[in-house]
Amino acid sequence: MELTFFEDAPNYGVVELVRKPLQEYFDEVALLLPELPKKLSIWLDNSFLIRETGEGGSAYSPKVINISFDVDFKNKESQLVDLRGTVFHEAYHLVQGHTFFDSTAEYRSLLDSAIYEGCATVFEREYAGVSPLWGEYKQHSPKELAKWRDAMAAISVEDYRGEKNGLWDKWAFYDKEDARRWKLYKTGAWVVDQTGLDILTLLNTSTQQIIDMYKRN
Ligand SMILES: [Zn+2]
Repeated sequence: MELTFFEDAPNYGVVELVRKPLQEYFDEVALLLPELPKKLSIWLDNSFLIRETGEGGSAYSPKVINISFDVDFKNKESQLVDLRGTVFHEAYHLVQGHTFFDSTAEYRSLLDSAIYEGCATVFEREYAGVSPLWGEYKQHSPKELAKWRDAMAAISVEDYRGEKNGLWDKWAFYDKEDARRWKLYKTGAWVVDQTGLDILTLLNTSTQQIIDMYKRN
């Protein structure tokens, strides 16, 4: 994998801290996901920083990944473990075409996005061996998760992409009405786990097929 770093990125200053680990992690995940492009560009900025892990990321477009990395984060060892998880997560998005720009994934409702996020979350958990907080749904009852699933299935793409309505942030990151975080990720991971299949076999499975499999189980 050939990685290039945008020199004008706001957090380019950390490049020498992350260049070698990112190279190692992308080379590793490319062995699991040979469909990944051979060249990727990295935009370093801290827009996606997760305060508990000191890093974060986002699949910006098919060949560009945003990586966040907090230079002041105390536990450098755990930070790199989680950064590896993030690389695996974002790499899975690239193969599924779930990207912010130039996405090739199919979306019918917010639940489809939740399933793509669930897939990437399960992949980082299973193949990078991390325990992402946004994948820990067991603290919620199946009834509650089913309620979130149905609510997201009723939110159209136009609705959650609408200007400043906050629906994405509410479901993906934090819902101030019930003080829950990551409902979209947790519900997605739950649905994906119910299929009982290895996450690598779901790479080319549509979200509808995943929902159908989940309903059968
Ligand atoms: Zn994601």
